Amino acid sequence: MPRIELKHITKKFGKFVAVDDLNMVIEDRSFVTLLGPSGCGKTTTLRMIAGLETPTEGIITINDKVVFSSEDGIDVPPDKRDVGFLFQNYALWPHMTVYKNIAFGLENLKWSKEAIKTRVEELLAMLKISEFAGRYPSELSGGQQQRVAIARTLATGPKVLFMDEPLSNLDAKLRMEMRSELKRLHRETDSTFVYVTHDQLEAMTLSSMVCLMKNGYMQQYAPPLEVYRKPANTFTADFVGSPNINLVDGLVDQEKPIVLKLTNTVRLVFQPKTNIAVRQGQAIVLGLRPEHIAVTQMKADAEAEVLSSLPSGMETIIALSMDDIRLHSVVFGDIDFEVGKSVGLSFGHGVFNLFDKESGKNVG
Ligand code: ATP
Repeated sequence: MPRIELKHITKKFGKFVAVDDLNMVIEDRSFVTLLGPSGCGKTTTLRMIAGLETPTEGIITINDKVVFSSEDGIDVPPDKRDVGFLFQNYALWPHMTVYKNIAFGLENLKWSKEAIKTRVEELLAMLKISEFAGRYPSELSGGQQQRVAIARTLATGPKVLFMDEPLSNLDAKLRMEMRSELKRLHRETDSTFVYVTHDQLEAMTLSSMVCLMKNGYMQQYAPPLEVYRKPANTFTADFVGSPNINLVDGLVDQEKPIVLKLTNTVRLVFQPKTNIAVRQGQAIVLGLRPEHIAVTQMKADAEAEVLSSLPSGMETIIALSMDDIRLHSVVFGDIDFEVGKSVGLSFGHGVFNLFDKESGKNVG
């Protein structure tokens, strides 16, 4: 059963359209990430679902209940939507201990002292902060404060948890740690998580579904690996993955087998596994992930010159020039390629994507 459903949601600020006709189903207990560059409408979308922003048009349903409908004039306030929030500036109450911070929402709901104690202790243990129960926020590190904020949000057991860049104030190491914590918490609670980030790695590693947005439009809504392997268009292809995907302009020279003309000297011939709808003369963009370009000493799909070799220990990123087209390849391990050397490139057939140059859409 879907937990949240958005139908034709549009938000205008004056004449500016921040979110345009968004349709989306968020399944019960899923972890959905709203991902995209700054200003694409992620936060506005989250705030509309949470009830903090009024859509200009559309219908929002949470737990089978219409919480917003522009047609019927329904707009249920945030505190009646059975949702919790965790924002970037998660401001804890400075004059309350950790225990009190977490207990506060439950006291408001008039829970008994014993029930509050049981619940708070459970949360303290879940977030591994039991030893800090008696401390004040100012006596905690950023990461510990973040855990308290999460415990406080989870206390009342909201069915949906909204998080807007909750890890962006943490340093890289803590962020990594908190990512796995969030994933664990998602498994341990029966809440649906809706998460905003502009960090593609965060979205890829955390979510069960990624909603990738640009200029207020949904570009793709799919599981992270699908976004990675079958990006809907050149924008989504480029947005996920590091190093970035190689996007190479070309022309369809022949339809069966497909022959792509990439440069005056490089032609790529392949027999697609599935039907790819391309026509002779069509301008296309070939999308090749860096890990699918193998650099060899042998004759292969193309020849290239090594421009630089960047070993990071675990992997080596190799910048290449193929007839003046810049490509990146990534290989596992610490391999030193001589700069200026001529090498063979072998492209992972069957794993690349073809996009129509004009529309940017994936055609196979
Ligand atoms: P970021 O990652 O920078 O937070 P975002 O994707 O969350 O970006 P939103 O905050 O949803 O983007 O904003 C979407 C667009 O709507 C932006 O262009 C923003 O300037 C505009 N916008 C947001 N709130 C308002 C407002 N109250 N009045 C006018 N324009 C607004």
